[in-house]
Amino acid sequence: MSRGEGRVGLGADLHRLVEGRSLRLGTVEIPHAKGLLGHSDGDVLCHAIADALLGAAGLGEIGEIFPDDDPAFSGLAGAELLRRVGARVTGAGWRIVNVDAIVRAAAPRLSPHREAMLRGIAEALALEAGRVSLKIKSNEGCDAVGRGEAIDALAVARLERG
Ligand code: MG
Repeated sequence: MSRGEGRVGLGADLHRLVEGRSLRLGTVEIPHAKGLLGHSDGDVLCHAIADALLGAAGLGEIGEIFPDDDPAFSGLAGAELLRRVGARVTGAGWRIVNVDAIVRAAAPRLSPHREAMLRGIAEALALEAGRVSLKIKSNEGCDAVGRGEAIDALAVARLERG
């Protein structure tokens, strides 16, 4: 691996929306009648970003690092998961250049929380806010996301050798 070499990684995740869970997205607690089902806190946006980072670094995927049958990771917060993944990636000699993500939800309206999510993600990864970008989509009533049965997220990340 030579200095200045760049790598990109891709991440995607989907969690079902259910009653009785709080909704956390991009590290931010968002008021809603439902939350995302999962062994962790279900923060689908943090999960997609973490997998993009791990993919770019060639360090596997979050399912291997944080197995969903390990009680140690029960309720694991997206911010903490991202922090640990960021530390692994930088510990392996990579510098995070940027992260670009899409979160797709029919409800609630996420745009009022966009800045807080950007800040929370950047902080967890120890990045300047300008290195993180986030788009919000609704899927227009189509598919499970569009019908409000699930929320999903996509992310790409670029790394360079430090
Ligand atoms: Mg997940």
